[in-house]
Amino acid sequence: MSDQVTKERVLEMLQKVKGPDQDDDIVSLGLVSPIVINKGKVYFAISVEPGRAEELEPMRSAAEEVVKRIDGVKSVAVTLTADRQAGEATPPASGGSCSSAGGGGGGQIPMPNIGAIIAVASGKGGVGKSTTAINLALAFQANGLKTGILDADIYGPSLPRLVGLQGQNPEAADKDQIKPMKAFGMEVMSIGFLVDEDAPMIWRGPMVMSALTQMLQYVTWGELDVLVVDMPPGTGDAQLTMSQAVPLAGAVIVSTPQDLALIDARKGLNMFKQVKVPVLGIVENMSYFQCPNCGERSDIFGHGGARTEAEKIGAPFLGEIPLHMDIREKSDAGQPVVVSDPEGPHAEIYRHIAQTAWKNAEAHKAKMAGVKPKIVMES
Ligand code: ADP
Repeated sequence: MSDQVTKERVLEMLQKVKGPDQDDDIVSLGLVSPIVINKGKVYFAISVEPGRAEELEPMRSAAEEVVKRIDGVKSVAVTLTADRQAGEATPPASGGSCSSAGGGGGGQIPMPNIGAIIAVASGKGGVGKSTTAINLALAFQANGLKTGILDADIYGPSLPRLVGLQGQNPEAADKDQIKPMKAFGMEVMSIGFLVDEDAPMIWRGPMVMSALTQMLQYVTWGELDVLVVDMPPGTGDAQLTMSQAVPLAGAVIVSTPQDLALIDARKGLNMFKQVKVPVLGIVENMSYFQCPNCGERSDIFGHGGARTEAEKIGAPFLGEIPLHMDIREKSDAGQPVVVSDPEGPHAEIYRHIAQTAWKNAEAHKAKMAGVKPKIVMES
């Protein structure tokens, strides 16, 4: 029966597999990523040094074989990942769900159900990152993609309010898993569904990663084309680790036109560059003020800074979103403009941004196909 399969049992079996240099086993060497088990299907990755993937194919298939022997395992997918140096992967899990959730800088969490994970980030808070993330997610959906959104902004989770699900709690799925909530046809998840909104949240480094990775691993996400991740604001350790922990297809950076925000946005760009996550583009939010009465436009913040900056640093520019009462009021009322006013001009802007970001993600994927020394085989 599939529920006999546990992470502990998988790790126990993987201890039989010798590492690249035949000295120790792959678990003790810390090469195994967190294990994902879904209805008897087992997924994980083994970190190898770049350039050794082909040579280490027998190690990959040995890992697959031993896991297949476990009662209840229906299929096994093992990936060799050369994204980071061997030895830097997550230390072996010691049983508890927190410890197997990756503790910072570990191997990537495989997300087999999800086609592309796109992070929405900003250099600092208050630039409209969450508002952009929810509208962008809804715009992906409007463009025909099966979409989910994860609010990883654990310092100020706003997704429950943005989708009008405040005070509601997700249901438990099998064992220690939980089901994502549903809003406007999308799967949505936020730490805000799990903790009291008014309780002050003080997060320390390892807790941040553990909370984030658990929301990825222990939520039963369905088959999605795209999962939008609303990142915590800023470019510190938490953001960096998060960017490394999940296989990101790319990042969208939200900035306001003010120079200060742009300086911060540049930090965001550099951070993603450092972890080799492609920047799909920059969005200029609150780009210009549009009078709700007469529609007249005023460039109160000296608009256009983000476009110029994007051109200077060679990042794609995705578009400008005006500062408009409707965007704020509808967000606050749990009715983001993309769904509450789909025919309106703002929804159109978001859909256009989503289309360009998706095109850039696809183009990057096509460029990387065949370049990365990655071997994926499913049995
Ligand atoms: P962040 O996630 O960067 O902290 P939020 O998305 O929470 O920022 O936005 C901060 C505030 O600005 C919210 O009240 C939101 O409704 C408002 N806001 C964001 N973007 C716009 C916009 N384009 N026009 C009007 N108000 C906006």
